[in-house]
Amino acid sequence: ATPISIMVGVGKAAEHGILIRNGEALQQAGKLEAIVLDKTGTVTVGRPTVTHLVPAPDYSEEQLLQLAASLEQGSEHPLAHAIVEAAKQREITLSEIQQFEAITGQGVSARLDGEPGYLGNARLMQRQGIDIGELEGQAQQLAGQAQTPMYLARGQRLVGIVAVADPIKADSSAAIRRLQQLGLKVIMLTGDSEATAQAVAHQVGIDAVIAEVLPQDKNRHIEQLQQQGQIVAMVGDGINDAPALAQADVGFAIGSGTDVAIESADVTLMRGSLHGVADAIAISHATLRNIK
Ligand code: ADP
Ligand code: MG
Repeated sequence: ATPISIMVGVGKAAEHGILIRNGEALQQAGKLEAIVLDKTGTVTVGRPTVTHLVPAPDYSEEQLLQLAASLEQGSEHPLAHAIVEAAKQREITLSEIQQFEAITGQGVSARLDGEPGYLGNARLMQRQGIDIGELEGQAQQLAGQAQTPMYLARGQRLVGIVAVADPIKADSSAAIRRLQQLGLKVIMLTGDSEATAQAVAHQVGIDAVIAEVLPQDKNRHIEQLQQQGQIVAMVGDGINDAPALAQADVGFAIGSGTDVAIESADVTLMRGSLHGVADAIAISHATLRNIK
C-alpha cells in the first residue's frame, strides 16, 4: 500500500465533503459488506413535525396538545421539540410539571396537576398497565403511513395519540440504491416501532429492518452482524449512535451530527447525504486498485 495513493484518496474524499480520519478507514470502506443505517436523521431529515392529534372521548385536540407539550418541555428529544413547537404555533400556554423523567427508548413521565402523566410508545403504556385498546387501531394505521404515534395518559386514563412524521431526505432512495448496486446489504436500525420502521424502509427500498432497539443496544446489533463474519458500516447522526459507530468496522457520522457522534466516527459526511457513503466506498475502491 502506498501512503501516497491513500493521501490522494483522503484528499479526493475531502473535496466531496467526506472527512476520513485515517488511511485504515479509507481501505476498510472498500471491503464493506453490510451497511446499517440509523433511521432518524440519517434516512430521514431528523426534524419531525406533529401531523395528527387524536384525542380520546372527553378531550379536545387542544387539551391533548397542551398536556403533551407540558410533559415534553424539559426533554431534549427531537420528538419533544416537535410537540413543543406545535403548541407554540397554536399559542398554547404550558402547565408546570414536577418530577420530569425521560425513559430511554420509551418516552417521558412527569407529575402534572398532582397526577402522573405519561407520553410515549406502546411499551411505556404497557409498563404502566395502561390499556391502549381503544386507540391502538388508529395508532397502527398512522404507523403504517410512516408516522410515529405516541400515546398520552393521565394516571391510568388514555388522553389520546400525538403523531409526528419526519420527512425522508430527498436523495435517500437514490443513495440506498447505489449502495445496493455496490453489492452491499443495507439494513435500517431504529428505536421506533416495527410498523413505522417498515413503512419508512419500504419507501426507500430497504428490505431489512431492526426496530424497537433501545439506544444502549444498537452496538450489539452491529456486533452480531460482525460475528456472522461480515464487515459492517454504521451510519448515524446522534448521541445514541456513538457506541454503534465505534463498534462498526467503519463508522460514518452524517451531517449535523452531534459532537459525540463525530468523535466516535471514522468518517464524517459534511453534506448530510447518504450519497457520501457511496462516494467514500467508490473512492476507496479506486484507491485500493492503485495499491495493487
Ligand atoms: P430513535 O432510534 O428514533 O432515536 P429513540 O430510541 O430515541 O428512537 O426512541 C424510541 C421511541 O421511544 C420513539 O419512537 C418514541 O415512540 C419513544 N420516545 C422516546 N423519547 C420520547 C419522548 N421524549 N417523547 C415521546 N416518546 C418518546
Ligand atoms: Mg436517534
